[in-house]
Parts: sequence; C-alpha cells; structure tokens
Amino acid sequence: MRLRYYKKDKAFLTKPLEEVGIAEANLVAYQLRKALLVKTISLKNPVGLASNQIGLTAPVFIALINNKWETFINPRLEKKSKETINYREGCLSLPSNRTYFTKRYKWVVVSYLKENGKRTNQKFEGHESVIVQHEIDHLNGKLCKEGGINE
Ligand SMILES: [Zn+2]
Repeated sequence: MRLRYYKKDKAFLTKPLEEVGIAEANLVAYQLRKALLVKTISLKNPVGLASNQIGLTAPVFIALINNKWETFINPRLEKKSKETINYREGCLSLPSNRTYFTKRYKWVVVSYLKENGKRTNQKFEGHESVIVQHEIDHLNGKLCKEGGINE
C-alpha cells in the first residue's frame, strides 16, 4: 500500500467514488486505520485520510474529530452554511511543503454510515468542518488546490 500523489496518480485521485455496501466499507476503514498505524503516511501529522489516497475505491475516510479518529462511510453533505470562511490547507497527496488558499462553508451537516451500518447526521463547525469538506472532496475526486468550494 502506498500513498497516492496527484503528480503521479492524477487520473485515480480525480475519479469520483461510488457508494458501497457496509462490509466492503469496513474493510476499507480498517485499511485506512492501518495506514496510519504502519506509518504509510509518516511525514506530517495528518488530520484526515481518504480511501483513494491509499489506492482504494470505496467512499470512506477517517478524520481526527475531537482528538479521536472517526470513520465516515458513504458520506453526503446534507446542509451547509451560507457563510464561508477562507482557509489555508495542505494535503498528503500534494507536495508536502505547500499549502493552498481555499474557501469553505463555515459549518456543514454530514450524513454518513457508522461502522455498524447505521446512518447518522452530524454538524461540524470551524476547523473540523474544513477537514470533513476536504475529505469529502477527495471522495468526489477533488483536491484542495482547486480552491475548496466547487459548484
Ligand atoms: Zn487531502
């Protein structure tokens, strides 16, 4: 397993992922957590990792929320604030010493499946909202160098 980079793996990283069943999603979630543990990604302190960044194709990401790694399966953006915030983001799949200016929703409500297969709704604000938007973008084939909100 290796980290995918935009420079080498553009076609793969920009392909939107299709929803999958809970069994497959949980295998992918396991691989994501393992990638963190075995230091597939060791250069930075990551706050999120999407499946396609390690070569997998189920729409699953993990993110550091309240200092805990949470799993998001088949996530959907249900609601978003009118207000936006300007942010500066880095990405493990982009050159490591660079950050990008982005525009993000101040808060978002995301629905996603938990590992037990139950769909849940959760609101995220501020920094955590940006993390979640960044990772959902990955699953939709978008990287933060495109500026964040893509509509
Ligand atoms: Zn990223």
